[in-house]
Amino acid sequence: MMESDRRPRRGIIFILSAPSGAGKTTISRAALKAIEGLDASISLTTRVPRENEAEGLDYHFVNDEEFNRRLSGDELAEWARVFDASYGTPREPLENAVAAGRDILLDIDIQGARQIRAHYAADAVTIFVLPPSFDELEGRLRRRGTEDDAAIARRLKRAQEEASAYPEYDYLIINAEVRDSIERLKAIVNAERLKVGRLRAEFAPWTI
Ligand code: 5GP
Repeated sequence: MMESDRRPRRGIIFILSAPSGAGKTTISRAALKAIEGLDASISLTTRVPRENEAEGLDYHFVNDEEFNRRLSGDELAEWARVFDASYGTPREPLENAVAAGRDILLDIDIQGARQIRAHYAADAVTIFVLPPSFDELEGRLRRRGTEDDAAIARRLKRAQEEASAYPEYDYLIINAEVRDSIERLKAIVNAERLKVGRLRAEFAPWTI
């Protein structure tokens, strides 16, 4: 890395978690477009791709064998089983981003958020997204139309359990209007970027 590429602060790991159907994917996609200098972390998953998903863009789609190989090679910063599939965050791109002062957005579940918080406490900011109500959540899941009734029932049950985890997070966004939610997320990112505690030890705004 060239010295001129080194930012005055370390990169921030922004973690976005939500029960499924809360609108998290919409918010994270919009945030990645709207917020300069924020990159997506691309997870590994053993789940089958949905129709609108692309390899390397939404996920790296791998089989169990490949996932386990990466896991036992210590290549994942966190991982979890969600709905009978494995999901994990590749360690190298994450740590490279933090070291280079680039901010990265992780769309991961609460089990993964706990692991990242434990290992990267100083660099992680956790944000939880909730729909305005449980009925609203059920409606969103049905409108999405990507799962059958049994899968929706499972996701709803899990959503109810997951929602109770919000007190573990730094920030809560109630997603009533997507535009407002994105503004709130922007405000969080901007404020976190300005924290004095994130500046590198050698940073000197001017010499006194
Ligand atoms: P989906 O299958 O709907 O894309 O994602 C299901 C759940 O897995 C979501 O809550 C999503 O945030 C979570 N997830 C996606 N990637 C990862 C990951 O790398 N690690 C963990 N722990 N959860 C993930």
